[in-house]
Amino acid sequence: MWMHEPRGYDCPFCAFLREQPNTYTNQDFVVYQDALSTAYVAPKWWPHTAGHVIVIPRIHTENIYTITDDQLAATYVTAKKIAIGMRTVYGCDGISMRQHNEPAGNQDVWHFHVHVFPRYTDDNLYGNHAKSYIAPSDERMKFADTLRAYFTENGV
Ligand SMILES: [Zn+2]
Repeated sequence: MWMHEPRGYDCPFCAFLREQPNTYTNQDFVVYQDALSTAYVAPKWWPHTAGHVIVIPRIHTENIYTITDDQLAATYVTAKKIAIGMRTVYGCDGISMRQHNEPAGNQDVWHFHVHVFPRYTDDNLYGNHAKSYIAPSDERMKFADTLRAYFTENGV
């Protein structure tokens, strides 16, 4: 019910989890992982909110209606770790999390995912929705290294 994944869908997040690099990303950008969830610095950024992270369950599931409670809990516990890490080491003023379901809800990858955004006063994240861009790998790696160092130093 309420699913939009086409038959034979070649899921980009599952390919990523199988360590198949794609045009935009690879495992080098993973910042945190546990048995049920993975978090990585995403390639798509918006102005003034560099370092956007995506958290995904490690087993394919399409959306909020299909995800198991265990997967959901693990994904959001990881998102919380990312939020605290970002707030500590990015120098941001706040955090936003977004999770989309179905085309009307702006979902565009048919694998449940949570966006974690660093927020800055007057960053106009939502007003800049149409201004996304693919962040350079070296810039993304700086944010990934910063978060990983924080997790390592804090035993997360
Ligand atoms: Zn998938």
